[in-house]
Order: sequence, then C-alpha cells, then structure tokens
Amino acid sequence: MRCVRESGHLRTLHALVFTLHALAAAMLITPSDVGAQAVPRPYDLVSKQIIREAMCEPGAYQLLEGLTRIGPRLSGSQNAAAAVRWGYDAMVSLGFEDVHLEPVMVPVWERGDIERAHAVVGSGPVVPLAVCALGSSVATPAGGIEGEVVEVHTWSEVDALGATAKGRIVFFNRPMDAGHYNTFEAYGEAVDQRGGGPVAAAKVGACAVLIRSMTLAIDDVPHTGNTHYEDGVPRIPAAAISTLSADTLHSLLDRERDLKVRLELTCETKPDALSANVIGEIRGREKPEEVVIVGGHLDSWDKGQGAHDDGAGCAQAMESLRILKELDLAPRRTIRAVLFMNEENGLRGGREYAAVARGDRHVAAIESDAGGFAPRGFGVNAPRETLDLIARWSYLLAPMGADRIIEGHGGVDIWPLSLQGVPAIGLMPESQRYFDYHHSDKDVIAAVNPRELQLGAAAMAILAYVIAEEGLEAGASQ
Ligand SMILES: [Zn+2]
Repeated sequence: MRCVRESGHLRTLHALVFTLHALAAAMLITPSDVGAQAVPRPYDLVSKQIIREAMCEPGAYQLLEGLTRIGPRLSGSQNAAAAVRWGYDAMVSLGFEDVHLEPVMVPVWERGDIERAHAVVGSGPVVPLAVCALGSSVATPAGGIEGEVVEVHTWSEVDALGATAKGRIVFFNRPMDAGHYNTFEAYGEAVDQRGGGPVAAAKVGACAVLIRSMTLAIDDVPHTGNTHYEDGVPRIPAAAISTLSADTLHSLLDRERDLKVRLELTCETKPDALSANVIGEIRGREKPEEVVIVGGHLDSWDKGQGAHDDGAGCAQAMESLRILKELDLAPRRTIRAVLFMNEENGLRGGREYAAVARGDRHVAAIESDAGGFAPRGFGVNAPRETLDLIARWSYLLAPMGADRIIEGHGGVDIWPLSLQGVPAIGLMPESQRYFDYHHSDKDVIAAVNPRELQLGAAAMAILAYVIAEEGLEAGASQ
C-alpha cells in the first residue's frame, strides 16, 4: 500500500459534498453561504481520483519495467515479436475487452556487428569517432570506406559542392538550436539532415555521409534514427556521429589539411516480416461503436531499451485504461488502447490501423510519444472548434500542471487517422531532457521517473474519459 486509500465512507462523503454543492448552485446560493469551497465543476472529483490513483499505484512504471526487460524492439526483430506477445498478455491480465492482434508486415533492418569510424590525420594520429549506422542505411564495402571530409550546414552548401564532393564524405554538422524552449522545435529544424542527407550528398557524388546526432547534449553517444534513399540515386552509407565527436571532427577539419575519415558499417535490409499492432479496450456503455483511442508505439530503435521512446507511451496508454477500470469509471463511448508497430522506420502499423478501422467512428485519438516526463498539456491537430471543445476541460489537468491545450502535432501513429478527419491529440510532456536519450543507448528505464510517467498516464486517462463521456461535437454534451 503506497497511499492512504480513500475509504468507501470518504467516497460517500465526497459524493454528499458534491450533491450539496450542486444543490447550492441550483438554488443560486453562493458557496460561501454554505460555508464551503467553490462549487466543483464537472468531473472535478473524478479527475482528482484519477490523479490520486495514478500517484498511488505505479501501474505504468511496472508495465514499462516488464516491457524494457525485453530490450530494444526494432520492427521485425525477435524482441519486437516478444513485445507483441507481452502487450497481448498484459492487456488480457488487466482485463481489457476484445484484446487482439492486428497483423501488419514490417520492414526488417539489422545493424550488424560493426559500426566504427576514425579520423586519420596525415601519416600521424588516428582519432576515434563515436558513430552508429542510421536506420535503413546500406553497409560500407567490407573493410570500410575512406575519404576526405567536407563539412556542411545547409542544403545550398551541399549543392554548391558540385563535383568537388565526388568520392568525399559529406559531414552534416548543423546542430539543434539550443535557443528553443521546446526542444521538439529544435529537432524539427535539424532532422532534415538525417532524413535527406544521403540523397543530397549522393547526388553530388559523395561516397558516404556523417550526420551530427539529433541531441542538445554534448557527449559521446551517437543517436540513430531513420534515413531515406531515392530510386535512381546511389545509396551511400549513412552514420550518426556523436555531438562530441562532431565537434572534434570540426576542429580537426579547421586545422588539418590532410584529413581523412574511415567508416565501416555492416548493416543490412532483409525481407519484410509479419508483426502486429496490439489492441484492447473498455467497451462503451452507451455508444460502443464510437471510439476514443489512447496509444503509443511498441517498436523502438535497437539502442538502449526504448524506454522513453516509446515504451512510456505504451505503458501510459494501458495504464490509463487500468485506472478507469480500477475506479469503476465505465465510459459512455469505447476507450481503446492501441500499441502501434513500426513507427520508427515505416509507420506500417499506424497506416494499417487507419485502413482497417474505417468502419468505427473515431471520436479522437490520443498518443503519447514524446517521452515519459511530467505532462504539460496536449497538442491538438484538429479544427479550431474541436480544439476549443477539448480546451474547456483544461481545468481538470491544472492540478498537475498539464493544462496547456494548444495547436500541435498529434502523433505519428495517429497521423493516418487524422487524414480521415479524426482529431489527433498528442501528450506534451516537459521536453528539456527527451533528446538527451532519444534513439540512443541512454534511453533506458533508469532515465524514467515513475511519478512523472504516472502523471502522464493520469492526463491521458482524464482526457480520454471526458471525451468518451461528452463527445467532441459542438453544442452537444453527448
Ligand atoms: Zn517515438
């Protein structure tokens, strides 16, 4: 027992106080007339119970412990298959309804055993560089590839290289802008290098690319992530380089004329494999065919344990249903937890879910995929009127400082649903530390604070519950 639990007697008392307040409001008696606090607003007590349950029972954290024990879960890997089984079993044991797997074919990319690089300065010293292959990258020729290095920061600098890039390694070294309060903005501005670097460099004849890791931390841990190739453009090896090694390489390039880098990667792409989304729900008591989704993605990169990205989101989605069940809060509409497969390197799970689920009426989709940190609010990808309808519930989230409801990105996995007009809502946690861990060996459960993780689950549970009760249609409360 971690908390003083609310006894049945106390619950009755709360209900009585609520009734008295409602009566006072109906009779236009001010709260001070009855010697009480302000009249509770709708769902005030329920949301406080949800927050309390989340704080007392670390269900999401325990789920995350189970999931991260499997290890990283790159699509198509044995670990990803184990995670699918884990998710199914966990949903069954939590008593969710209609627990099932939704089959989906996923790409399979393997990192291989070797990923290393070093700088060679003339006939002199060799300087090791911390690198890792970017997802989808091709391997280097056996034994590695060596070339002079040219550093760039912008696409026009790449274009301007012209024929001088031939046979060289293009080093993309534009850092994330530390001046942004929201680190996702800094990521969004810089990540084009990771996605588009290999194609742009190959078009001017480069033999490989090194791309500065997408993080604001200055350390020697490289951060992976997906990259892309284009038909008709040579596929050249692509590696992320740690920020510290990027800074080292930059200063070496400043002072050494005769510098080369040798890069060796043994990654490869294999045939697609069968995997699955994992789905379970609490069926709606009045409108079961109308659905509110809570979700995260079950796959991760093959670094660390995929704890923040996105084990946290999966655990929170499941925990939000557990909390509602524990409190006997049967929602009017169905609340469905979806653990999407293959967000990181294909989005096959999100697309498949949207294609299969066309028959259901999705009222909203809520995703947690921004880390298991203390929630600050939700970003909403929906018309303004819908955002306003969601924002009217922000007072329920205020007790935990999670009441910012703003226009924003819902989530990658629920983006295909948003194209069908489903309001997509993304949990927005505090963002300062996320990219320290993202897609790297540092994304392990030790980096997750149980209480912050639980608060995120509470925020999702509250929002999912009020939307399931009230709907999101203007003018109607049902
Ligand atoms: Zn993610």
